[in-house]
Amino acid sequence: MSVPYPRSDERRRMVDLQIAARGVRDPGVLAAMVEVPRHLFIPPPYDRDAYADAPLPIGNGQTISQPYIVALMTELLRPNPADSVLEIGAGSGYQAAILSLLVRKVTTIERIETVAARARANLAAVHADNVEIVYGDGTLGYPPSAPYNGILITAATPIIPEPLKAQLAEGGRLVAPVGSRSVQDLVVIERHGSQFPEENHGGVRFVPLIGEYGWSEE
Ligand code: SAM
Repeated sequence: MSVPYPRSDERRRMVDLQIAARGVRDPGVLAAMVEVPRHLFIPPPYDRDAYADAPLPIGNGQTISQPYIVALMTELLRPNPADSVLEIGAGSGYQAAILSLLVRKVTTIERIETVAARARANLAAVHADNVEIVYGDGTLGYPPSAPYNGILITAATPIIPEPLKAQLAEGGRLVAPVGSRSVQDLVVIERHGSQFPEENHGGVRFVPLIGEYGWSEE
């Protein structure tokens, strides 16, 4: 992604006023949020509002998260250049594109086939070549590319699925919205052997994680 994409002034304002102003400090995360053209991940007419301080619809009843939440979750993951990261809930592909600039390899799983296909097209358009998109139930993780140094769940989960804990590398971090279907806490766990100490980073709202270790489809 070396070519500067249009609307870079809007992205710089977004980073200054919505993200840095709320305390996200990681320079790599802030640079990635300036670089990735969020508007290319959002279908019309909502792409007009791509740099607003809000989640937006991406079709199939799903959403792209508020920019600040994407930045905060990415910072909480503490990404390193050599890392392999798993994302559950590819959605538009935007979060995966941000991660692709910060780590060696991103695997992202999406349970709705048409959404996964759009994510694949969006990621190809920005040449995010180190992202692998998998169609399936992300609550089971993706054993072929495990273990992961970081795991990001970008949908609301009642619990942290056991298969994901098992696929986390030693010292690896998992960031997830954990709670009810309507409101959750942003939780971080870090693997130390069989121990997973937990931090809580406050209230958030995500669409539900549907799957074997998530919510049932209603
Ligand atoms: N990270 C996305 C982005 O950057 O656009 C936004 C994710 S959106 C808030 C949540 C996504 O999780 C939806 O696309 C939904 O279909 C997906 N999802 C829900 N349950 C899932 C599961 N068990 N496995 C994989 N994806 C799931």
